[in-house]
Amino acid sequence: MFTIHGKTGDWELVIGLETHIEVLSNSKLFSGASADYNPTVAPNTQVSMVDAAMPGMLPVLNDYCVDQAIKFGLGINAEISRRSIFARKQYFYPDLPQGYQISQPPEVAPVVGRGYVEITDDEGNPKKIFIERAHLEQDAGKLKHDAHPTKSFADYNRTGVSLLEIVTFLDTKNPENNSYISSPDEAEKYLRQIREIARALGVSKANMEEGSMRADVNVSVRRVGEKTFRTRTETKNMVSFKFIKAAIEYEARRQIEIYESGGTVSQDTMRYHPDDNITTVMRSKENALDYRYFPDPDLLPLIIDDERIERIRKTMPELPAATRTRFIEKLGLAEYDAARLTETTDISHWFDAAVGDKPARAKPIANWMISELFAHPENYDIENQKSGIVDGMRIITPSDLAELVDMIAANEINGKQAKEIFIKMLDGEAGTPHEIADKFGMKQITDTGAIESAVDSVIAANPAQVEQYRGGKVGLLGFFVGNVMKATGGKANPAVVNEILRKKLG
Ligand code: ADP
Ligand code: MG
Repeated sequence: MFTIHGKTGDWELVIGLETHIEVLSNSKLFSGASADYNPTVAPNTQVSMVDAAMPGMLPVLNDYCVDQAIKFGLGINAEISRRSIFARKQYFYPDLPQGYQISQPPEVAPVVGRGYVEITDDEGNPKKIFIERAHLEQDAGKLKHDAHPTKSFADYNRTGVSLLEIVTFLDTKNPENNSYISSPDEAEKYLRQIREIARALGVSKANMEEGSMRADVNVSVRRVGEKTFRTRTETKNMVSFKFIKAAIEYEARRQIEIYESGGTVSQDTMRYHPDDNITTVMRSKENALDYRYFPDPDLLPLIIDDERIERIRKTMPELPAATRTRFIEKLGLAEYDAARLTETTDISHWFDAAVGDKPARAKPIANWMISELFAHPENYDIENQKSGIVDGMRIITPSDLAELVDMIAANEINGKQAKEIFIKMLDGEAGTPHEIADKFGMKQITDTGAIESAVDSVIAANPAQVEQYRGGKVGLLGFFVGNVMKATGGKANPAVVNEILRKKLG
């Protein structure tokens, strides 16, 4: 368990994440304007009358965004509400022309109810993180304060784009239930799971750098073993794994210090400052009443029937958790390897492409990827699976690795030669592994006659060691193998060498 040592004892962390992902859709949640607000689009060119809140304009719910929410809900093993409603969350800010955000606030049924994702905890054990809800809501516009010395600008292209907000669950009625995030690393793993599920389903790009995934981070601390939860703070709008982890740790330490010096933590909304790695109070926490939520009179309740859910369920691709299970159960990978190879869907696709229809390749491919390829990220293009030489760098493809592994399995080359070929590829050598092996004369010697004569001369040259070996010092076998390999220029098949040596020395 992750704990922080304070002056008066050990403290544990309680973390709740509210994650916003931008829903992939051609148009916005309640209008027909394009939802692609990327920075190359001129400001305020994708704003409909609805987005601009012109009097009398009526929102129309985008069914596709609802389908996306359902798909995501199924991806996190959640209940899908058969009936949910939209309500207005009212506040004034210049990036919000309507004066309210249409959302599905805490008191009303969200489109996606209770679900969970699976991560591994800090000890490597599987752990479920419960999700309380996921709901649809509108994004706000963007303000630009740095374009002019005395003016600020508003760009409403993003106004009304669909967000899905995913909120983790804390079982306040049963504080023994530890299915919540309890360390900075778990927070990162949880967010990566959310990102992978969203991407695998095509629900969102879920890209923190681009702002299509953002998280509000709720943190509280309690003494190890304490049975109730204490007051939390909420740090808003975090867009990097690194900063999220740093903010959690900073905030926890700050709260511990307050408690240990006899103070109380107040439920504030915080802002994180990455340059100084500190959080400061932005405002004291507002509550649902402050927003004067009420059901949006322009929108009917959202009714979802079983048929729709089943239709969407049928289109679901394999999700990371299922891929992991398949790698373990069908391909015989160790749990650790399966976890590494499903960290992103790009990685698992690469692995699947290399294994192809030959399950026997799975273990060696996994080993090569994890111990060699991952050490050279510049040499493979996991995302686009490009091939050839790119920017003077040779890209190693799934078929390169498959060929290499097959050559070893077919005894055409030994492991040492395979490594040499791999290094040549890293160094920019063009051609397939076969072509490289031919070019550099790296054929494995499997001809027993040639190996036998090498064995004979090594035995003849080392009479003292032969005597020791026969006297019981069998550990010397490695010494003989090494010498025979040297004598054959590293080309002999080690298995054959071992066999012949044992026979001759025996
Ligand atoms: P709000 O909507 O006011 O931000 P919620 O009740 O929806 O608050 O909770 C937001 C997030 O904060 C949830 O993920 C929840 O699990 C988490 N949370 C609630 N209480 C605590 C607490 N005491 N410590 C840490 N996280 C908490
Ligand atoms: Mg909140």
